[in-house]
Formats: sequence, structure tokens, C-alpha cells
Amino acid sequence: MSDHLLEIKNLKITVATRRNVLNLVDNLTLAVKKGEILGLVGESGAGKSMTGSAIIGLIEKPVKISGGEIWFKGKRIDQHPDEVRGHEISMIFQDPMMSLNPLWRIGDQLIEVITTHMNISHQDAIKKAKHCLVEVGIDPSRMNAYPHTFSGGMRQRVVIALALAPNPSLVIADEPTTALDVSIQAQILDLLKQICKTRGTSIILITHDMAVISQTTDRVCVMYSGRLAEIGITKEIMAHPQHPYTKGLVASTPQIDASSFEKMLYQIPGSMPALDNIPSGCAFHPRCEHAHDKCRAERPEVLSNRAACWLLDANEGQ
Ligand code: SF4
Repeated sequence: MSDHLLEIKNLKITVATRRNVLNLVDNLTLAVKKGEILGLVGESGAGKSMTGSAIIGLIEKPVKISGGEIWFKGKRIDQHPDEVRGHEISMIFQDPMMSLNPLWRIGDQLIEVITTHMNISHQDAIKKAKHCLVEVGIDPSRMNAYPHTFSGGMRQRVVIALALAPNPSLVIADEPTTALDVSIQAQILDLLKQICKTRGTSIILITHDMAVISQTTDRVCVMYSGRLAEIGITKEIMAHPQHPYTKGLVASTPQIDASSFEKMLYQIPGSMPALDNIPSGCAFHPRCEHAHDKCRAERPEVLSNRAACWLLDANEGQ
């Protein structure tokens, strides 16, 4: 039996404009194993958040899933995401203040989520709400506090408690630390790792930050222009990136060692292409120092089981 909790096969997400149809996610295939943290990384516009939204069914017209399949626990969910949203798959957003109702006490918000998704009594829901707060490091005596009385980091802990309350098997965390101070970021990332370990919950961590990927995830999927650029075990990719885009992301990540203070950080030249102007062939070719004629003409799919780049084509030059 497959140990995959989630499988995405050839996912295509598009938006129709007056002139043409734009690809937001283009032929994406990946899987999430039980109890692992998978990172989705790339610059803005890479399609990371759109992929997360598609999994949990938060895509709204005119954007639509126009191809491919999403499977969760052996059941196809892309046409019926409401059957799993909330109780089986939950989401943590970037800004905790936007996720919490400022007029409700946090205990009431937790109890509402629990009673909506679980068939338990109000008394048991109160016990569970307190337990969830303890799990994320908040004193349960604060059940009656309002969101504005918490710091940014503590509010994000409340949001994590809300996401965990119905005991989901998969949590999608979309830039959960971007709005926080660096020291608080580390605490929240440690908390996510701890939850993954103790509960066996799988996590999809969406971020643009390679340092966060390196600290937190088991495997990483690098996305570019809505396409998969490289996927594999995080340690291996950080040590030996294959795709030139991944190499650029790794090289532009600050390292804390003596030599890094003496040299400038690498910058990937150029920027992510606009959706209505995605280059032919390999979408990365205008920014790639290794680009050759084939790159401009033909789109590479994943070669060498890991990266989508013609440099890895064993038939090249034969
Ligand atoms: Fe660079 Fe070509 Fe590889 Fe694209 S396919 S990343 S342009 S070498």
C-alpha cells in the first residue's frame, strides 16, 4: 500500500482573461508522505499558494482547476474538497490577525471549530480546546482572552491550535512565519516540527525562504512559473542542487560562517516572468546561464527523477 497521504497528479490551475487563458499551476505532480514535512518553495508567482489553495478547495472563479487530479487517503478530492476541508486537511495562513475573529474569545473560536468538525459534547470540546492550547504552549487560563491581547507569535500559536483542533492528517502552512520576528519564527517552526513528530501529522510548508526549508522540512519541492523545477530530500537538495534555479536559491541563502561575511550573496538575475509572458521551452531560460537552443524550444519534464532541466538529460549530446 502506498505510504502517500496526498497525491497530486498533473495538476493544472488556470484563469481565463479576455485575451487568453493563463496557467497558474502547470502540470504539477507531487506526493506527501504520512508524517513528513514537505516544503513548497519559490519566488512570488511560482504557484505555491495556489497549489495549497487547490488542495484545500479555496480556489474561486475565475480561477479553476482545469486538469489533473488530487488524491487524499486514496480518495479523489479535487471536485469535492469540502468533504475533507477543516477536519482532515486544515490551513495556517501568514497573518494570524486575519485568521482570528477579533470579537470572539480564543476559547470560543476553538470550541466552535471543534464542535463543527467533531461529534463531541460541549464539555468535551472545552477540554479539548484547553488541551490544544497547552500543546502549542499557551496557558489554558487564557481561554477567555481576545486575540488583540496576544503578541504576534502567540496569535500564530492560537491559529496553529485552531488548525490542529479537529485532528487533521494534513496541515498546509502558507508562509506561517513571514509576518513574525526572526526569533519568534524559529519558535513557530520548532513547534510545527514537534507537532509533526508527536502527532504524526503531515505538513506542507509554503515559503519563499530557503533557510526555513533547510531548517524545517524533510523533502522540498522547488516551483518556478507554476511548474515543478526540482523535488527531493531537503538535505540532498541543499547540499547538491541539480536545477540551476535551485542552485541560485541555495546560493542566495545566507550562511552563518566566517567566509560568508567576506563575500556578497549571490543574486539570481532577472525576475519571475509575468503569467501572460511565460517564455517558451524552459520557463527559466532567460535567467539561466546554461540555457541553450533546446531550452528555448522544448519544455523539460522531470529528468533524473528529481529536476526538470535539459542539463540532466542522459541523451543530451548523444
Ligand atoms: Fe537552464 Fe536549460 Fe536547465 Fe532550463 S533546461 S534550467 S534553461 S539549462
